[in-house]
Amino acid sequence: MKDALRASTRFDLHLHSNRSDGRFSAEEVLEHAVAGGLEVIALTDHDLSTPMPPGIHQIQGRPLLLLGGAEISGVHEDHELHLLVYFPGQIPEGFRAFCRAQCRERAQRYAEAVRRIGLRGLPLPGPRARSGEIALTRLHLAQALVEAKHAESTSDAFRRYLSDARGIVPHLSTMFTEGIRLARSFGGITSWAHPPLPAVEAYLGTFAAAGLQGLEAIRPGMKSTDRRRLRRHARQHGLFLTGGSDWHGWSRHDLGLFQVQAHEIRGFVDVLSAAVELI
Ligand SMILES: [Zn+2]
Ligand SMILES: [Zn+2]
Repeated sequence: MKDALRASTRFDLHLHSNRSDGRFSAEEVLEHAVAGGLEVIALTDHDLSTPMPPGIHQIQGRPLLLLGGAEISGVHEDHELHLLVYFPGQIPEGFRAFCRAQCRERAQRYAEAVRRIGLRGLPLPGPRARSGEIALTRLHLAQALVEAKHAESTSDAFRRYLSDARGIVPHLSTMFTEGIRLARSFGGITSWAHPPLPAVEAYLGTFAAAGLQGLEAIRPGMKSTDRRRLRRHARQHGLFLTGGSDWHGWSRHDLGLFQVQAHEIRGFVDVLSAAVELI
């Protein structure tokens, strides 16, 4: 695995499959990653741990290092924030159980949102969602609203029913700091996903004290001034940087157009390598 972490290795540490709100199956995401020239990826579905074993996978004759992970939702001061969690080896059963509980709660909040919207033709969560096997997200509800002809498009559905300002979709009950502590207690490596700058300025000290290790500061389309500010905040709190596209497969941008090189996320790679030594 160490060979896969040399300085020029091409990473994408933030990808979604159709087990949450992505378009492609987990297996297809791996195929797209290899076709796009990526060498190390993490499959980070919403509140769902990676289904296949982490480690080197041979895809179309080429090696791809898959890290186990998830993107956990947590609340801090009424904001829903996302935490990326990575595991260098197998994902511990305790963390998987936490993810299943999060997904069961997602199914409950989906049903509650359907009740609050109060329109006909919106199906309630099925057995796989209720048992925590898949993650229901706002996108699923937006798609159901379009299907039932209550919205013209998913963006119209978000605008009319699903934005935070409408208050229709309840927050999950896990606190963001609780998510950080729990992930760390299972040996997970943590990074704050797509952190908004004002929230970083307000909360980073609290989150670093809870055990946050990284900031996702390398993302497609970021302004260089924002990236510089995030780097400065990360440095001040002794955090490393991570990078990922947050690829869901819905846009026409192919996976692999955005890549992060190992030398850009050196601190993360060092922690990952040290953890690999211990496995
Ligand atoms: Zn996110
Ligand atoms: Zn994401």
